Amino acid sequence: MHEYSLARSILETIVAERNQRQLGPIARVEIELGEFSGIEPLQLESAYAELSVEILGDRSELRIQTVPLRGQCQHCRHEFLIEDFRFQCPSCSGSDVQLVSGEELRILSVRARQN
Ligand SMILES: [Zn+2]
Repeated sequence: MHEYSLARSILETIVAERNQRQLGPIARVEIELGEFSGIEPLQLESAYAELSVEILGDRSELRIQTVPLRGQCQHCRHEFLIEDFRFQCPSCSGSDVQLVSGEELRILSVRARQN
């Protein structure tokens, strides 16, 4: 259900953007979604498809770029990819790890249909 309200808020942002920039019908929206955002990309896509007509008044395509989970060791500063949610530095085995990426949700681009 979280995906549903997220899709709605993305679409509402796009409506505002479209009105502000006086764009035509929206063809494609690209977003960046962190692996650790707690959002299921497939569910987000289907919620988006379902709500696109209702909110935008037309079908549009959602493209999701997944951002991997990365962390930085606060002990030796080593930056690494976190796999299987193992928050441990592969270099010094330190466990004081700060997230660098993987939690983001950002609209990257909004493309209007070409006429
Ligand atoms: Zn380390």
